[in-house]
Amino acid sequence: MSGLKVLSVASEVFPLIKTGGLADVAGALPAALAREDVEIRTLVPGYPAVMAKLVDAQQAHAYDDLFGGPARVLGGKAAGLDLFAIDAPHLYDRPGSPYLRPNGLDWPDNAQRFAALARVGADIGLGAIDAFRPQVVQAHDWQAALTAAYLNYADRSRPGVVTTIHNMAFQGHFPMSIFPELGLPPQAISIDGIEYFGGVGYLKAGLRLSDRITTVSPTYAREIMTPEFGMALDGLLRTRAAVVQGIVNGIDDTVWNPATDVTLPQNYSALRIDMRVRNKIALQTQMGLAPEVDRPLLGVVSRLSDQKGLDLLLQALPGIIARGGQLALLGSGDPLLEGGFTAAATSRPDSVGCVLGYDEKLAHLIQAGADFIVVPSRFEPCGLTQLCALRYGAPPIVARVGGLADTVIDANEAATAAGVATGVQFYPAAVESLTYALNRALDITRDPAVLRRLRLNGMRSDVSWRGPAKRYAALYRDIIRPAE
Ligand code: ADP
Repeated sequence: MSGLKVLSVASEVFPLIKTGGLADVAGALPAALAREDVEIRTLVPGYPAVMAKLVDAQQAHAYDDLFGGPARVLGGKAAGLDLFAIDAPHLYDRPGSPYLRPNGLDWPDNAQRFAALARVGADIGLGAIDAFRPQVVQAHDWQAALTAAYLNYADRSRPGVVTTIHNMAFQGHFPMSIFPELGLPPQAISIDGIEYFGGVGYLKAGLRLSDRITTVSPTYAREIMTPEFGMALDGLLRTRAAVVQGIVNGIDDTVWNPATDVTLPQNYSALRIDMRVRNKIALQTQMGLAPEVDRPLLGVVSRLSDQKGLDLLLQALPGIIARGGQLALLGSGDPLLEGGFTAAATSRPDSVGCVLGYDEKLAHLIQAGADFIVVPSRFEPCGLTQLCALRYGAPPIVARVGGLADTVIDANEAATAAGVATGVQFYPAAVESLTYALNRALDITRDPAVLRRLRLNGMRSDVSWRGPAKRYAALYRDIIRPAE
């Protein structure tokens, strides 16, 4: 039996090309949804990283002129994904970041490059490729969001369309001077269309013109309807509240499995949780920390940016050290934060270890060896670090925002008594409340039975894609439009 067909339109997809969580989700959805009898094909720009990996490529559609040059849509496979890749060298045959020039600035033709992605997405949605006629099109983030506009202004019946927000910080605003190139009808220039403060807003258009809007957690879905988190689109989102939904992300629980993780010095499971301590000692040793098993060890694996709130942790650090705590931090980003944590490690090497850079293997060891993982984000659409931490038995200490609020159960008295707590939450993201939460966590370490329970609860919570996949499948089935 052939299942529901969905076209996923994405500007990045793991493992081919990735700058953020969007790539992880776009890469994970097809396999997760296959179990729900949903067949997802992913449309991506034909960057060199994609074209190099594409096998069994067949031309599925062609354009004489797609935003300034000829283009082909190639159907093929790469890294286990069923792809359509847009082979348009004038738009995508550029090495490095999908969005930025080597000098770190946006490509000047990003408006055209991602309008092209949306245009092709809509064309496939409208039946351009006989062999794959999707009943639903899902457009991810601003780069794909014009798909909803192209579908809505087409003169044919269209499939259902959902726009998914992974990151509200980027919205794709361009001057109205690009409008004639987009190939949309004049009536699209409207507050109910693509117009945004006198220019063209790609994400705005997607939010206005989609059947459904999703984002990556229920709490973030609520938050973005407020001025504090809505980044100037909260008003529009409030008018569409009835179609906004949050679906948390999952993690790959075969990659993140402490029982089989080959990168760990010591494998362990919920049944053999006591063996976990060997990873703690290995982590302390590798980070140059005093290898004392009784000292509470906090872990951080994160981009160092304002969003992540690690300036708060830096301020709270002296109090932690005074109570005998240690910190193992892996991250990179903001030079001020890099300098701050490096200085802390230099002055107290027994207590603070800091590795700057991106290191998958060390990330796994921190998750497997730290007593707690700290995620003090100011905002967090979903967050993956805390999901890994739950799975690895390192109770997360998190700000109660976005996906952090939805995935961690605070060890308050009621949750502890009911035996369901998985971590510690605090709010707001401020030094005082973080300090209070850290002290609560340190208190918990004095009661091994409570700490063990927290760890086991986390390890047994389902952070896989299975639950989210069911929710996406239900959503897709809700927006199938009747055949005309
Ligand atoms: P974001 O996408 O905002 O950076 P997420 O928590 O959603 O944050 O996803 C980031 C993922 O990348 C997490 O799994 C995190 O642990 C991992 N990560 C972040 N920084 C590093 C690093 N320096 N080395 C290894 N993994 C990292």
